[in-house]
Amino acid sequence: MGKIIDGKAVSAAVKDEVRAEVAQLAAKYGRVPCLCVIIVGENPASQVYVRNKVKAAEYTGMGSRLIELPASVSEEELLAQIAALNADAAVDGILVQLPLPRHISEQKVIEAIAPGKDVDGFHPSNVAGLWLGKDCVLPCTPAGVMRLLDSIGIDLSGKDAVVVGRSNIVGKPVAKLLMDRHATVTMAHSRTVNLAEVTRKADVLVVAVGKAGLITGDMVKPGAVVIDVGMNRDSEGHLCGDVDFASCQPVAGWITPVPGGVGPMTIAMLMKNTVRCFLAGR
Ligand code: NAP
Repeated sequence: MGKIIDGKAVSAAVKDEVRAEVAQLAAKYGRVPCLCVIIVGENPASQVYVRNKVKAAEYTGMGSRLIELPASVSEEELLAQIAALNADAAVDGILVQLPLPRHISEQKVIEAIAPGKDVDGFHPSNVAGLWLGKDCVLPCTPAGVMRLLDSIGIDLSGKDAVVVGRSNIVGKPVAKLLMDRHATVTMAHSRTVNLAEVTRKADVLVVAVGKAGLITGDMVKPGAVVIDVGMNRDSEGHLCGDVDFASCQPVAGWITPVPGGVGPMTIAMLMKNTVRCFLAGR
């Protein structure tokens, strides 16, 4: 029976690490890192995410600002707001909660954030940094996946890793981070022929698709480490992953649950990134 990788516990440990770091920074620099979160409109899921980000920042002792803009805000106004925050020396990290209303270009907004304050790690210069192997801000969810893998002490060198999903925010960066640890990485996606044959080769299987129950027990190699990034709602409205936990856990060596796996890691790594941006600005 696969052991559970407890994302809640690991994320709590990361947040405590940040909390201790923030206290030291306060003593050393006379101020704490400050995260500014911008939310546009009233998407209920986004409101929950943003609230949790601000709450986590408060827990770690860092400063936080929440800027709530109406869905009708123009792209120009939002860009001007970001420019002001870029120039504000009291703000170390800027996060614009996605998705944005359709009349605003997400790409323009991402590119408007100063790379040194881009705590999401989505700015092209941070993306380039990741792919060039530079020391840069890493996107939060992929960084959280790596931290979960580290929490079980797995040596990834030479392991067969399969990443299902090739999005810019999860699949691709996770694949690069696994490669950096010398795993042999295969990327699967919607055009992959015979997905089960591919996933069954994985010592480490990371799934980031957005389809509930896509991965079933017969698709998992016995003893594999299974990381489920998916966040879906089942027919009763409950949060569930891309991995069918009931059939996969008996086969896997380790497995993340949903909820309580990758989800809490994203916010914890956001806290880490904010400290990183603060330090880079010293
Ligand atoms: P996305 O941009 O929609 O990408 C989904 C990927 O899955 C695409 O590459 C797509 O292939 C692939 N795919 C779709 N159907 C497939 C199938 N039947 N078999 C194999 N691959 C398939 O999604 P995302 O933003 O990466 O998010 C993925 C999931 O992770 C979602 O459930 C999202 O909510 C969740 N998520 C969670 C967190 C967290 O904090 N836990 C953070 C981010 C995302 P093509 O490229 O061929 O279309």
